[in-house]
Amino acid sequence: MKWPSWLAPKSRRRPAAAEPSLTACPTCGREMELIEKTTMTGSDRRTCRCEHCGEEHIINFGPALWQILSDAREAEEKEEKQNG
Ligand SMILES: [Zn+2]
Repeated sequence: MKWPSWLAPKSRRRPAAAEPSLTACPTCGREMELIEKTTMTGSDRRTCRCEHCGEEHIINFGPALWQILSDAREAEEKEEKQNG
């Protein structure tokens, strides 16, 4: 009997996967160097450079901190108006 590849005993013991890193190069997986950070657009975008590939990648870290705080303040103001 032939085992399907996903059921083969050797595939069960996979090495523990390294924590996925946002600053890892999408091409080679190596840690990239932070070049520039911008939160102008409301999201935390960072330009990273991979020395190995010699390429720069823009990574979106999600909403910028000031954007989150601004949203929270707006929500609070709305609640105050409703209560007042
Ligand atoms: Zn790379």
